[in-house]
Amino acid sequence: MEFRDYIQSHISDSTIKTELERSYPYYRHLTPELKQRFINRCSAFIELKKFAGRQGLVISDPVRIIITACAVQVTFGLDSFTLDTFEYVLVYPDVYESPATGQLHKGETSMNGFICFSWKHILEGIEDQHDNYNLGLHEWTHALRFNSIKYEVTDYFFDGYINKWIANAVHEFTRLKNGRQSIFRRYGATNIHEFFSVCIEHFFESPEEFRTKLPDLFNQTCILLNQVPAKEQSAQINVRNQLMELNNAEQKEDQPLYSLEASLYRTLMNFGSRIIYFGLVLFILLLQHNKAATILAFFLCLFAVFMINNEYFTIRFYANHIYLQKGFINSLSTQQTVNYYSLIKMEIYEGNNDEEHGFVFELKYYDGSRFIKRRAYSNSVRIPEEEIKTLMQQKNVTVLFPSFN
Ligand SMILES: [Zn+2]
Repeated sequence: MEFRDYIQSHISDSTIKTELERSYPYYRHLTPELKQRFINRCSAFIELKKFAGRQGLVISDPVRIIITACAVQVTFGLDSFTLDTFEYVLVYPDVYESPATGQLHKGETSMNGFICFSWKHILEGIEDQHDNYNLGLHEWTHALRFNSIKYEVTDYFFDGYINKWIANAVHEFTRLKNGRQSIFRRYGATNIHEFFSVCIEHFFESPEEFRTKLPDLFNQTCILLNQVPAKEQSAQINVRNQLMELNNAEQKEDQPLYSLEASLYRTLMNFGSRIIYFGLVLFILLLQHNKAATILAFFLCLFAVFMINNEYFTIRFYANHIYLQKGFINSLSTQQTVNYYSLIKMEIYEGNNDEEHGFVFELKYYDGSRFIKRRAYSNSVRIPEEEIKTLMQQKNVTVLFPSFN
């Protein structure tokens, strides 16, 4: 979509600085280092966006700086902050009738590439720092989410982790929808997008209450946005890995809840006709009394069985992590532990890469710097699907069983 009569130009760092000091509390509390980062980001953001006044509103420098500051605050811990889907920022003096819905709006974030604000309500949101209403943060949070959905240049971590956040948030979202007592206002029950925006308003305006009442969701929100907000003092950024390590440091238990072993018998069965072929080769060589060749063939057979065995995994579900081990010989195989805090998604379906029956486990997890997809084959005949489903839901892991539907 295109709009006319917009302003797109540079604003000097000193003008931005003066305005933020005067009217933006979040900025005022930042450490000197973070203040510089904040100004740099505002400056870059302003140059990218086309601001257009509506119903007589004049786009002044403070209008551009304050609206931009709201976006920079939400994305302050993220690597990517330009929200490229949103080229236009339309600013109305007060509530306005939306052409899309015909109703009065204070703000609107459109997938068509623009975002709208009532200037009056932007100011009201910033003025009262404790009422958990903040229009600027609310709409830019939608923009952050929609930017990720549209797959414009978007933040790598945010994009990969948002589903983990949603899996956590769905508990409180459901409570709110069912009319239960919640720290969040009722509007958050509209849908998960509104819940996300309402949650971020609360995150910045009442961080202490949020942390005390919903510690897990608060923690997840800090990880997602890579920042810890604070009232009356500086927000902290680049906190993500530290928070994730704390989560992952939980003690490892001895007894698995469910264990899918890669058994020797099933492995040999999956090896199928090839084992007969190797057996035949071995038998012929034995008859020939050729010692060297017999030994060679024997090790070839062992090696072949071991290689095939390596396609299969022992998969154990513990209370806090999943353990994967290639094959059934503990000391000879690759082992890996994936903590539920790092595990985003698990997909389980029937079938494997051999003719025999089995299950494929596809895991997506975060290893501290990248999102990794891993595929593990289990040659178990049956798996406790309901138990696994329940456990994954408890651990806020998105679980998909496409073949069981
Ligand atoms: Zn909204």
